Amino acid sequence: MKNDKHELKEVVSELKTYLEFQRDMGLKSVFGSIEKKKEPAQKPQKPRAKPAEAQTNTNMNEDIIVIEDNVNLFDDSQKKITLEEIREEIGDCTRCQLHEGRTNLVFGDGNPKARLVFVGEGPGRDEDMQGKPFVGRSGQLLTKIIEAMGLTREDVYICNVVKCRPPNNRTPEADEMDTCEQFLFKQIRAIKPEVIVCLGATASQSLLKTKGSLGSLRGKFHIYGNTKLMVTYHPAALLRNPNFKKPLWDDMQVVMKELGLPLPNK
Ligand code: SF4
Repeated sequence: MKNDKHELKEVVSELKTYLEFQRDMGLKSVFGSIEKKKEPAQKPQKPRAKPAEAQTNTNMNEDIIVIEDNVNLFDDSQKKITLEEIREEIGDCTRCQLHEGRTNLVFGDGNPKARLVFVGEGPGRDEDMQGKPFVGRSGQLLTKIIEAMGLTREDVYICNVVKCRPPNNRTPEADEMDTCEQFLFKQIRAIKPEVIVCLGATASQSLLKTKGSLGSLRGKFHIYGNTKLMVTYHPAALLRNPNFKKPLWDDMQVVMKELGLPLPNK
């Protein structure tokens, strides 16, 4: 009986948090169902690009960035590699200087067959302590965003460009991201999501190989190998400036539409 009460209290508390976020976003309805993962559609085979040639083509007319099939990201003829194998390959990594200050390597978390992957720039203090991505205040806000989309953290996959915490939460250096991003590419290849959401300018600029501002990159899909990539604000930016909630929610609604998730009634 005591346990039942405790569980009920937790459910009520989670529901309250979810509804508060919906209210903050100006939403007036609650989602009724979660769409299951569709069978992957047959997509036209892209010509394989050599890693050295995997570069950015920018269509200036639409301001959409197209990243060719980076490190054969979506080449089905490549040997299949699982997330466990990628984690094993990383091992007790010392490939860049970030290993010196880490408590735990933060590989990633979530559904290995997720249709939607969120990518941040790197672990913070809480993440470093727990070895899990997005578990601090920003992470709690990300969880609310995911729930406002009618999903749970278990439906999606969450990871970062660099797997070890930069000292004092500084932005990862270019060489650190260059060294570590190979593992992110492999994670994306293993999961094959339909949509990637880059959280914040650093992750977005790193994946899209651009110096474009977050404002110029967000709000539309870029093409990343065989998947679509949306840029939006990092949840930490929303904690600093609640005015970013509305544009972030606009971005998430574009993602929801792409995934066929039910949109809230206005
Ligand atoms: Fe290795 Fe990446 Fe950690 Fe650098 S950030 S030590 S490359 S796992």
